[in-house]
Amino acid sequence: MSNLHPQLSQTAAQFIQREHRLLIDGRWVAPSAGKQFDVEDPGTGRLIARVAEGQAADIDLAVAAARRAFEAGDWARCKPADRTRLLLRLADLIEQHGDELAELEVMDNGKPLAFARRGITGTAEMVRYMAGWVTKLTGEAVPLSMPGTWHAYTVREPVGVVGQIIPWNFPLSMAIWKLAPALAAGCTVVLKPAEQTPLNALRLGELIMEAGFPAGVVNIVTGFGGDAGAALAAHPGVDKVAFTGSTATGKRIVQAALGNLKKVTLELGGKSPVFIFPDADLAAAIPGAANAIFFNSGQVCSAGSRLYVHRKVYDQVVADIAAYGDRLQLGHGMEAGNDLGPLISKVQMERVQRYIEAGREGGATVVSSQRPAIEGGYFVPPTVLADTDARLSVVREEIFGPVLCAMPFDDDDLASVAALANDTEYGLFAGIWTQDIGKAHKLAKRIRAGSVSVNAHMVNDPALPFGGFKQSGWGRERGREALELYSELKSVAINLGQD
Ligand code: ADP
Ligand code: MG
Repeated sequence: MSNLHPQLSQTAAQFIQREHRLLIDGRWVAPSAGKQFDVEDPGTGRLIARVAEGQAADIDLAVAAARRAFEAGDWARCKPADRTRLLLRLADLIEQHGDELAELEVMDNGKPLAFARRGITGTAEMVRYMAGWVTKLTGEAVPLSMPGTWHAYTVREPVGVVGQIIPWNFPLSMAIWKLAPALAAGCTVVLKPAEQTPLNALRLGELIMEAGFPAGVVNIVTGFGGDAGAALAAHPGVDKVAFTGSTATGKRIVQAALGNLKKVTLELGGKSPVFIFPDADLAAAIPGAANAIFFNSGQVCSAGSRLYVHRKVYDQVVADIAAYGDRLQLGHGMEAGNDLGPLISKVQMERVQRYIEAGREGGATVVSSQRPAIEGGYFVPPTVLADTDARLSVVREEIFGPVLCAMPFDDDDLASVAALANDTEYGLFAGIWTQDIGKAHKLAKRIRAGSVSVNAHMVNDPALPFGGFKQSGWGRERGREALELYSELKSVAINLGQD
């Protein structure tokens, strides 16, 4: 198709142009209703592929396949070392096909190729990290005080069939953040990628089959949220649903899960604060805070979207961050030298533009320079808003775009600083820039958020748990906690009889 970017490799182009089906029970099958939906390149707004539109009937088939695979035993009851080996093989395949996967990520999501490529390495490392846990997920022997002689122990068992619903901002890593711990724990999965970005999950499905996972262990159903997604979240045959996306959709997932009280984990929105104290290393803090909001065009749940700068350095820091944003080059992700790609869709672009307008109408000052619009794709340039009143929608609501709200603080009393951080319904992340280690620790303790970074932003190590307080979610991804949330804890007590 001529709509594909000319710099795309043959391999990636051929994959995109193939017929795309659903992965159910180890086979690529046509959707029951025979429907397809469009995939567009957000860098041009043009149609690049059509993929299978899975609906409730396909979810039924996928859940049934996952159930059979779960009961069959060659997965859930296989030797832990064999599960590790399969996962390690998958990690190797992801790395071997890294260039292709990175290109698919660009065409799906729009981000610059260099960032997509780095994401692939991180993705393979996440699989390896989780592969290592398979042989280490132990229970414990429990000493009982009841009369008699007992041997009691706990053991972790896979939760069962898991539905996983993921967003479009990091299509491949979001798939792996979900799949890797679930598979490590011995679950079987039905994965529904976001409708905006279905391509990479489909290629991943091929690699999963190539790695040798038994049929039905991973099923992939592309389709729309309100249809395939809702059917998966409500399905009585699903034991757990894991979701990443907006808080509004997260609440719908919880409601849908009520029917069979399936377990739910949610990784939702954020409105994360970043604090720059006057004693910070500003040469690091300025690019750090800029990238915290501009990276991936701000389409990051943990984006540092509220910037609090101490009044002593406020004017300089805000001007420098705006200038940093002004220097970032916008353009198609396949073209070298671009720092920022487009937003995911026209809907998202217009939403972000409306927020910027609402901020302006509410009295905020746009510090960033105005740029000419880029034709075709869904581009929004980095935008720094100053003089933002704490009650404005731009300060309170998650925008999911490259829009930073800067506010001064001049109170060195940490309780008031923490109150600023916590003045939100979210609690995903917070950043602190200071050279005073005592201040950093004390503030970190007071902030109600799942992750805090000091003199850094978004530390994406597979070992470090990630997730939200408050309305940013339930449960954690990454780390041992992620695996444990894909398991049920069983306690067994054995009466050994009289001594
Ligand atoms: P956005 O609105 O930006 O697409 P969402 O949080 O709605 O963000 O989407 C994240 C994921 O949730 C996507 O895979 C989407 O298809 C899915 N989704 C959307 N609505 C629902 C729903 N009602 N039930 C289940 N999944 C949904
Ligand atoms: Mg939605």
